[in-house]
Amino acid sequence: MLKANLEKVLNRIRTVADNCGRKPGSVRLVTVTKTVPVEKIIGAIEAGADMFGENYVQEAREKIMDLSAYPVSWHFIGHLQRNKAKYAVDLFDLIHSVDSIKLAREIDKQAGKLGKVQEILIQVNVSEEIQKSGVEPEKTPDMIKVVAGFENVLLRGLMTMPPFFNDPEKVRPFFRKLRNLRDQIQKDLLVQKGTEHLQLSELSMGMTGDFEAAIEEGATLVRIGTAIFGERS
Ligand SMILES: *Cc1c(COP(=O)(O)O)cnc(C)c1O
Repeated sequence: MLKANLEKVLNRIRTVADNCGRKPGSVRLVTVTKTVPVEKIIGAIEAGADMFGENYVQEAREKIMDLSAYPVSWHFIGHLQRNKAKYAVDLFDLIHSVDSIKLAREIDKQAGKLGKVQEILIQVNVSEEIQKSGVEPEKTPDMIKVVAGFENVLLRGLMTMPPFFNDPEKVRPFFRKLRNLRDQIQKDLLVQKGTEHLQLSELSMGMTGDFEAAIEEGATLVRIGTAIFGERS
């Protein structure tokens, strides 16, 4: 069941990427394991998943410890409180949900202590008035300029969590907005001193209900839980 679900999702990712002329491997699956027990995660690893997304530091810590023998990577995708940043830096390969300069600064400080360069994405609130988590699009370029100066943080791209709609076509404009924002910022960065080295190559967007539209709009990381493990209890 799990294996068949995972294969179906990977096939859909490959097919959509192929249909819009994108290279295989340019879209990667982050298997979302919040509330999913360790035994099922092992099942997913055995079926070929190698990148996992967790929302809560405490829950993730136990799983990551239990699964430390497996060569998989762990991504933090939930809301991160500043007082949990040190644990997140210790545990995760990529933090998708950095939504303020203060949080980025704390991550930089904690990464420095651990002798680590922490890869991050900036979470952007592309729907503005509709929901609240993430940086406003207009404030994103300024935040990037500040983050570019942090020595222990490497900015890899942008993430978004659009409002929920049953119809993926209603979500598509938000995906497009994130991609356009990234393209514009990337162009501007190239001509500015101190930011010309930044590569905002990752776009983390798309979940079970809408990942195909997200891929068509340029997603490089899709975060999928329900289509693989079933409804969360
Ligand atoms: C839970 C969650 C997902 C996965 O959602 P599904 O609809 O189960 O695929 C993706 N991203 C974030 C930030 C989440 O919290």
